[in-house]
Amino acid sequence: MTTLHTLGFPRIGARRELKQAQEAYWAGTLQQSELEHVGRSLRERHWALQAKAGVSLVPVGDFAWYDQILEFSCLLGVVPGRFGQADDRPVDLDTLFRMARGRAPTGQPAAACEMTKWFDTNYHYIVPELSADQRFRIARDTLFEQIDEARALGHDAKPVIPGPLTYLWLSKGEAFEANGDTGKLDLLDRLIPVYKRILQRFADQGVTWVQIDEPILCLDLPDAWQRAYLRVYDQLTGAAAVKLLLATYFESLGDNLFTALALPVAGLHLDRVRGQDGLARILPRLGDKILSLGVIDGRNIWRADLDALLDTLKPLKEQLGDSLWLAPSCSLLHTPVDLDQEDKLDAELKSWLSFAKQKLGELKLLGDALDGHADDAALAAQRQALAARAASPRIHNTAVGERLAAAGEVSRDRLSPFAERIGKQQAALKLPAFPTTTIGSFPQTPEIRAARRDWKAGKLDEAGYLEQMKQEITRAIRYQEQVDLDVLVHGEAERNDMVEYFGELLEGFAFTRFGWVQSYGSRCVKPPVIFGDVSRPHAMTVDWARFAQSLTDKPVKGMLTGPVTILQWSFVRDDQPRETTCRQIALALRDEVQDLEAAGIGVIQIDEPAFREGLPLRQSDWQAYLDWAVDCFRLATVGVADETQIHTHMCYSEFNDIIEAIAAMDADVITIETSRSNMELLEAFETFQYPNDIGPGVYDIHSPNQPDVDWMVRLMEKAAHRLPRERLWVNPDCGLKTRKWEETEGALANMVQAAKRLRAG
Ligand code: GLN
Ligand code: ZN
Repeated sequence: MTTLHTLGFPRIGARRELKQAQEAYWAGTLQQSELEHVGRSLRERHWALQAKAGVSLVPVGDFAWYDQILEFSCLLGVVPGRFGQADDRPVDLDTLFRMARGRAPTGQPAAACEMTKWFDTNYHYIVPELSADQRFRIARDTLFEQIDEARALGHDAKPVIPGPLTYLWLSKGEAFEANGDTGKLDLLDRLIPVYKRILQRFADQGVTWVQIDEPILCLDLPDAWQRAYLRVYDQLTGAAAVKLLLATYFESLGDNLFTALALPVAGLHLDRVRGQDGLARILPRLGDKILSLGVIDGRNIWRADLDALLDTLKPLKEQLGDSLWLAPSCSLLHTPVDLDQEDKLDAELKSWLSFAKQKLGELKLLGDALDGHADDAALAAQRQALAARAASPRIHNTAVGERLAAAGEVSRDRLSPFAERIGKQQAALKLPAFPTTTIGSFPQTPEIRAARRDWKAGKLDEAGYLEQMKQEITRAIRYQEQVDLDVLVHGEAERNDMVEYFGELLEGFAFTRFGWVQSYGSRCVKPPVIFGDVSRPHAMTVDWARFAQSLTDKPVKGMLTGPVTILQWSFVRDDQPRETTCRQIALALRDEVQDLEAAGIGVIQIDEPAFREGLPLRQSDWQAYLDWAVDCFRLATVGVADETQIHTHMCYSEFNDIIEAIAAMDADVITIETSRSNMELLEAFETFQYPNDIGPGVYDIHSPNQPDVDWMVRLMEKAAHRLPRERLWVNPDCGLKTRKWEETEGALANMVQAAKRLRAG
């Protein structure tokens, strides 16, 4: 029998039960015992679902309060000193929540731990904080309890834990900043004994297989880290009577492949959706290891081509027999839970999709076929759905295809270089030195949200909705005039989300009702589905911008989301390269940019906060990505007159290694998030001698605090040390939609005062 397993299942619940329960617990309206109950029933449900689908090893440890890395930090007793954790006491749930959020129903508040992106996904984990003399111990029993729980329900439990090297790699600590990351490896001598004890406890509980996740094997690893692998796994193997399945995912193993194959583990899992390592190199070195192939895409939502998979799997099965296991490529954490709930999606589109639960079914079809009892009817249905998708007129739009084919001829250059454009822009826009602006959104008040909800539910008619949005825009414009900002915005009241808003107005996008994916903690996102060629049937933002501009003599910025960001924050079709889809979006935005210009909008901002996060995991793939990402931005933006000023915005990013690409985007103005970095992020721009205008954020919009004038002047003076004064703008870090009016009003007034003082000084 072909063993089927998963690396993890989404924990949030088909109706986001985990979110609701956690938030209620934090708010004090749910008891801890009730919260525990919700967790238990979700685990029970998800294990049963998997077992029923033929998954014989169910994952345990994929369930987590808040985050699975945080759970593991608590298990290891890695709790920073400020949380007051006693060394001889177990780490309790509220301590875990305080680490994640800074506060919990019990215990003293303290600064929350840092959160960062999980590889190249949109999931965020809590970064472990290690000290140079870090001690490890088994400090929390929940994982062991969950193993008992699964076993009591009759499941063969496969605990899932991060491997020691991946855990250290993902952690941070002041002590390690000076000597790069290698200092962390010194902690292995303390960490490995605790791992051994953990494995021993698994063995005592009757566990056979342990999944140990080492996704960093898919990154470019320094030699010291690569070498550490052999040493670590030599020690872990045989430490207890369990078998280790080393799980890698998100990329090829590349030059870590032979390292992985040389480890004395009992099994190896490879991502066969993103990974490209040749099987011809793997099989001869496999020895008696189990080979687990991740063949069903754990990062996307399309039904798999089972025929094609079976073509490659059948000969492998003959060769490997029961040593061949099948699984999704990575944890299903990154896919929505259950397609069956989507009652508003049309049947055709639905037949192309597969969420976590449906992926289990696909896995089973593969396993059965390999074991000689293929479900021919189901395989035929899958084949038919795929063929229908490939041939569907909803996917292929000839006009888009033709335009894209001709796009190679379209110039990617503005009419004049920046040095010439900027003078014309300043004259046209009549901007002072240190011009002030904001990033786009103003506070989304409860009234705005209610109006949007009522309008979508049909309780508020179109006219009433438009009227209310216009009132909000008027309020935003009046306020900005009153504080004397230079380049105004309409405030984005009509937008719920910067990607969803555009997706709803573009062809080729679909939206689900329950397609939630965990982003961090209790926060989930519902990415749009890009299923077909993208085109723009009508102008999307022009009426709003024109209305806002009609209210004032000052320039109002048109506000668009950039092609890369729309791509990054959606589920993208898998039947053509991502860059093709991105270019289609860019062409649609190009039309919008030109329509805005024609409507008299002299400043247009194309937000690209996800530009950096699109970088591939391997550096060797970076340039190819940056080339097309920059190309898409230019395609969208260059078709305007010299006088039209193009802005872009990026949130907090590491700019050092992409500064050339940022400059190549050739936006007239880039605004970035810098206030918390004390302008240090500008170093990349300084070193590169970035030529265009730049607005380094001086107001941290994540905080309710109002920055004062002196503070902002000081930050700008720091910026002026690094970059020419005449190139600088004054603006907040990001949009203000999550803030309250009371908080922003004073802050922006202070910001304008700061700019005025800079001009005078
Ligand atoms: N224009 C958007 C806003 O102001 C930008 C948001 C973002 O950068 N994430 O909200
Ligand atoms: Zn931002």
